[in-house]
Amino acid sequence: MRAPAESFPLAARHELANAQLRANLATATATIRAKRSAVVSELPDWEELREAAQAIKTDVLARLDDYLLQFEAALEAAGGRVHWARDATEACAAVAEVARSQGVSEVVKVKSLTTDEIELNAALAAAGVHAIETDLAELILQLDGDWPSHILVPAIHRNRTEIRDLFARTIAPGIASNDPSDLAEAARVYLRTKFLEARVGISGANFGVAETGTICVVESEGNGRMCTTLPPVLVTVLGIEKLVPSFADLEVFLQLLPRSSTGERMNPYTSLWTGVAPGDGPQELHVILLDNGRTRVLRDEVGRQALHCIRCSACLNVCPVYTRTGGHAYGSVYPGPIGAILTPQLVGIERAASLPFASSLCGACYEVCPVKIDIPAVLLHLRAEAVRAKAPKSERAAMAAVAWIFASASRLGLAERLAHVLQRPLVRGDVIRRLPPPLAGWTRTRDLKPLASKSFRDWWRAERR
Ligand code: SF4
Repeated sequence: MRAPAESFPLAARHELANAQLRANLATATATIRAKRSAVVSELPDWEELREAAQAIKTDVLARLDDYLLQFEAALEAAGGRVHWARDATEACAAVAEVARSQGVSEVVKVKSLTTDEIELNAALAAAGVHAIETDLAELILQLDGDWPSHILVPAIHRNRTEIRDLFARTIAPGIASNDPSDLAEAARVYLRTKFLEARVGISGANFGVAETGTICVVESEGNGRMCTTLPPVLVTVLGIEKLVPSFADLEVFLQLLPRSSTGERMNPYTSLWTGVAPGDGPQELHVILLDNGRTRVLRDEVGRQALHCIRCSACLNVCPVYTRTGGHAYGSVYPGPIGAILTPQLVGIERAASLPFASSLCGACYEVCPVKIDIPAVLLHLRAEAVRAKAPKSERAAMAAVAWIFASASRLGLAERLAHVLQRPLVRGDVIRRLPPPLAGWTRTRDLKPLASKSFRDWWRAERR
């Protein structure tokens, strides 16, 4: 996965200068927030559902190896084929190989963050295969060479006049209306032929059921249903953390996900398929099980909860930072609070060190997260990691020396006496105004109190005596 090209503060400054973006973001996120809050308040057992989802995800991660093998066996017994991919290169190669074996130069694709993460479209293009995005917002971005800025509403930063102009230049020459229904119709006409001609469909997945080998995709436009049922060959890229143990577990997530993401009671389209069925739907099913850094995240006891994420985007819509800057400032396919904790773990903290600081730590993301990811706790954990990763050798050596001194009472007493002697030439009146290098930075903007004439330990000893 690609690391952010520039640090968050620099990218955010650029994005904040875009007044249109800020207006679009404010309107869209406020609307989704209000819808979410209305439908969530309808469920008296919302908190219990969140608890259940958290428990299921914790169990999945604790026994991921077993569940993955169970999923593989169930899927292959149902006629599907599993490919294991350690990283983006292996995953893309497996998809390209399927396309090559079918002799196709074009495939249709369902919106999928996981395929964006591995940059599948670029890899397929390099193999001579054009992947057509069929989600309306993703299509808009693809036609303009742009990239998503929101998990759920990828083109949140675009308005309808911009889209009308784009369509007029590309798929619908002569279109004059910027009415949403006319724009949707133009996309529908263009895509319908593509669906009917495609021999290979590509999807991500929201969930994979270990018990049955079933795959579940939820979406709003029906394009996902077309992609996963019309082409004779289907390839699904599934992040290994997306498993749930049993079919019954879907009941929990299919209540939480639509309410948290689009603010709807249920998803307009929920597609489930288990292997292949003769004469019905794709006759060849390939599932790529993708690691791409996930097992490394799993090793971190605090950070691993980021793998619970069901990509609902509720945390984005309530985040005071995201709702101002938008998604591009995060420089990653995973924006907002979840991006701030997932991206640094997937690409390495040293390559995305500014992201854990892209937060006010207000806790709103935790309040709305349907799987109860404690995002503020992970942010703090990663901030510490970022500081550790970036601290210069001299600072690390100084901290190690301080730890060594503090570990022994006699060493501490000796150090205090030495410090008293050393500070004498620096004290002016009752303050130290300037420390010598390498400590000079500390007194550049503040005065320092000198050490007390008597340490607490000396005072205590005298008292006791
Ligand atoms: S972290 Fe939670 S709120 Fe944010 S996208 Fe993931 S599941 Fe949704």
